[in-house]
Amino acid sequence: MHDCIFCKIIKNEIQSNIIYNGKLSIAFEDINPQAPHHIVIIPKRHMVAISEADKNELEEIFSAVDIIAKQLNINDSGFRLVVNQGKDAGQFVPHLHFHLLGGRKLNWPPG
Ligand code: AMP
Ligand code: ZN
Repeated sequence: MHDCIFCKIIKNEIQSNIIYNGKLSIAFEDINPQAPHHIVIIPKRHMVAISEADKNELEEIFSAVDIIAKQLNINDSGFRLVVNQGKDAGQFVPHLHFHLLGGRKLNWPPG
């Protein structure tokens, strides 16, 4: 999509630290990390919401989460996977993304 920041990251028009590059999805470091490890995982196809993702995309994203968590050594200590969807959740970038957060104790409930 023309003006989407995450589509620009996919096309390499905006620099990011990409740590996983799959067929249907890509993952990079969040520019404003909320934990020692904060990775954003996105489908390569532009979409706003989970309902638009197909099962191959979701399967690859969840498999990427597993691979990345193991790579970052947070699989055993634990991590949180978050989707902010829509205005009540405060979705800022309108391209579906999964936040993977780890490396510190995370509070619950979230704000
Ligand atoms: P959300 O509020 O769920 O839409 O979160 C959007 C996330 O994207 C935030 O955590 C931002 O820090 C992150 N973000 C925005 N622009 C960039 C960028 N250019 N590179 C990496 N992360 C970004
Ligand atoms: Zn996009």
